[in-house]
Amino acid sequence: EPSDTSEAQVSGAQVIAQALKTQGVDYMFGIVGIPVTEIAFAAQELGIRYIGMRNEQAACYAASAIGYLTGRPGVCLVVSGPGLIHALGGMANANMNCWPLLVIGGSSERNQETMGAFQEFPQAVRSSIYGRPGACYVDIPADFVNLLVNVNSIKYTECCMSPPVSMAETSAVRMAASVIRNAKQPLLIIGKGAAYARAEENIRKLVEQCKLPFLPTPMGKGVVPDNHPNCVGAARSRALQFADVIVLLGARLNWILHFGLPPRYRPDVKFIQVDICAEELGNNVRPAVTLLGDINAVTKQELASKKSLPMNYYTVFYHVQEQLPRDCFIVSEGANTMDIGRTVLQNYLPRHRLDAGTFGTMGVGLGFAIAAAVLAKDRSPGQRVICVEGDSAFGFSGMEVETICRYNLPIILLVVNNNGIYQGFDTDTWKEMVKSQDATIVAPPACLLPNSHYEQVMIAFGGKGYFVQTPEELQKSLTQTLADTTKPSLINIMIEPKATRKAQDFHWLTSSKM
Ligand code: ADP
Ligand code: MG
Repeated sequence: EPSDTSEAQVSGAQVIAQALKTQGVDYMFGIVGIPVTEIAFAAQELGIRYIGMRNEQAACYAASAIGYLTGRPGVCLVVSGPGLIHALGGMANANMNCWPLLVIGGSSERNQETMGAFQEFPQAVRSSIYGRPGACYVDIPADFVNLLVNVNSIKYTECCMSPPVSMAETSAVRMAASVIRNAKQPLLIIGKGAAYARAEENIRKLVEQCKLPFLPTPMGKGVVPDNHPNCVGAARSRALQFADVIVLLGARLNWILHFGLPPRYRPDVKFIQVDICAEELGNNVRPAVTLLGDINAVTKQELASKKSLPMNYYTVFYHVQEQLPRDCFIVSEGANTMDIGRTVLQNYLPRHRLDAGTFGTMGVGLGFAIAAAVLAKDRSPGQRVICVEGDSAFGFSGMEVETICRYNLPIILLVVNNNGIYQGFDTDTWKEMVKSQDATIVAPPACLLPNSHYEQVMIAFGGKGYFVQTPEELQKSLTQTLADTTKPSLINIMIEPKATRKAQDFHWLTSSKM
């Protein structure tokens, strides 16, 4: 209470300064005048850096930049009336940029009963940095600045916590991953929201692990370095014009991005919008997927979801091709497995590819592989035979695995398993189908038993069997089987049951042609 003089007293200005300090404010820009001069002095005394400027507008621009760069609001100190009017430019700019900012103005003296305004400090800091960041104005009555109060009568609200991190809905995350994965020409647009969110590490991972081309907006530059090989900044117009899927990471479809409309974009481009502000989602365009949440957290979710996605043919063959010895025999049969495999797996020698041939015969693969392996044993020991089979194709001559093991032919059998002929069903769908009705009535003709462990056939006869579901497991099992020239092996590779061939230029996890 101001009437109590038995204890040390502080002024309103000192209280304000301490309150700011408590809220983690380190920088104050402004122009002093009645009645805010004392606030600047008090702030300086407490170690807040006070930078006196020449116009409130510049002071406000400076304070907002501090907010963008540090994630805690910078303070702009102004007098009321003209001071505040001048600061409006900076406040509007901060709001439009989504940058946190605290503007403190001093108004004329008021009746002491209305001192409640002071209590608004913590809320002001919080609302400037929570949700979409922006500018906040706190008006301090002049009589408050000079009021003396007992030190012990003051309780400062503790520093407001960093904004809670919000994550996007999991179904939306999964949908986004699938849209990106099926894109032919995907493009990431990295905006200043991504910069503010400090999402650089995870965005770089997303760019690199998914081999995604990216385009920074002017202030999104540097989140992933401009000299990164996936940066398409030099071909901005083309990248925008030809992308069929665009992921917006903290960038609005405003004039900077030509409103997301044709002719700068394909009319059928699919936008995936990531933003912390719900009102922003669906602005100007109808997005294919909206991810409401913090960019860093959502990017992490996408990375995790990508890992749990089943592989497709391209992912599998990309990893197989990476490790195939140049002189190996490639035997192959199946529908998609053989067709897509042929486009990715390279042959370097004549007479080293054997497949379903003119007659399109299924069941030839293991016989061909045995022949090649017997020849290799006699003529060029160490030369490998890789037999790439669809799960259906493998079934036609699967028992020849016993022959392979009996003669100990170090053939590497790859079963690319999609639970069916052409396409199959996932385990859950299958279980649901046969739950209430007899399988002989409801099972689709192209369906094979999902999740079949074909590698057990190889293990049954003493060879090595692997069951793989991720690119990492595939890489590892390939390395091991290629290193072991003494034993036959079978790698059962589970892929997305609905995976199919696509005339795509870009493949999830494989190289982009952009
Ligand atoms: P640019 O000018 O670089 O295109 P914009 O200012 O248009 O960027 O867009 C930035 C977007 O980032 C805003 O819509 C804002 O709501 C959003 N944003 C800010 N911080 C975050 C965050 N932590 N997580 C998600 N979105 C954010
Ligand atoms: Mg199949």
